[in-house]
Amino acid sequence: MTTLRSLLNETGLPKNEARLLLAHLLEIHLQLPKSALLTHDGMEVSNTFLEEWQLLEQRRLQGEPIAYLMGKRGFHAIDLMVGPGVLIPRPETELLVDLGLDELNRIINNENALNESKHSLTILDLGTGSGAIALAIAASQPKVRVVATDASQAALGIAQQNAAHLKLKDRVSFCLGHWYGALHTPGNTHYRFDLILSNPPYIAANDPHLSKGDLRFEPQNALTDFGSGLTCLATIIDGALAHLKPGGLLAVEHGFDQSPHVLEQLALAGFQDITPHRDLAGHWRVASGRKPI
Ligand code: GLN
Repeated sequence: MTTLRSLLNETGLPKNEARLLLAHLLEIHLQLPKSALLTHDGMEVSNTFLEEWQLLEQRRLQGEPIAYLMGKRGFHAIDLMVGPGVLIPRPETELLVDLGLDELNRIINNENALNESKHSLTILDLGTGSGAIALAIAASQPKVRVVATDASQAALGIAQQNAAHLKLKDRVSFCLGHWYGALHTPGNTHYRFDLILSNPPYIAANDPHLSKGDLRFEPQNALTDFGSGLTCLATIIDGALAHLKPGGLLAVEHGFDQSPHVLEQLALAGFQDITPHRDLAGHWRVASGRKPI
């Protein structure tokens, strides 16, 4: 007799991964919570369940990312649907979201203190992928409107589905195109934002990580600029002042060893209050700068 317990005992996968995938199958096929793995571990599984499990197990053994196999990933305070067309959101990018939310709260508190009130705050997420940054911010800050861009139609399709699921479609709009070029469609040239955020492709073309682990299965153009790793960051930094309101903030994610270069680029572009930020692993992961008033 094949039971949940025997599947877990006999799998070639690490136990934590097997539990995640089994819980996923239990949820989609039997609408059971993941606690069923503990409370019903003696349950006999059907042949269909067994076949689906064997397929998932096989795909994982061949390296496919867990997030793609489950079709979703938790990020900040939301759940996102993900698939092979988009980068899998990383925990370190939550730092960028928290920085953005802090900045928005700062603006709102200042306005309250001055008894001013803007219609809405506007932010730009360049290269949104699954919509992770844009939607996490919109979900946590109801006063914000977000414009999110991506050069991949497939990615924007997934981001739009995520916006619909999260009921954020009315406050998040999506533009197809490369970086600021996505905004410059006819009749739409005068955007100025309170905040610009981006997690661009920053891995150098010759970095061996690109051919390891999950990265092998992710869209390469979401990971690398096919050059030094710094070209997209440079494009974003160079165009930011023209798209920020005076006093507006730019914050970008970058590689663990790219901080000195990115800080210098921000200074050369004319930013003030240039600040590096560490991720939870202790790496300098984000750099921010403010447009002079
Ligand atoms: N942080 C990701 C990684 O190292 C890369 C994401 C990116 O290039 N923006 O896997």
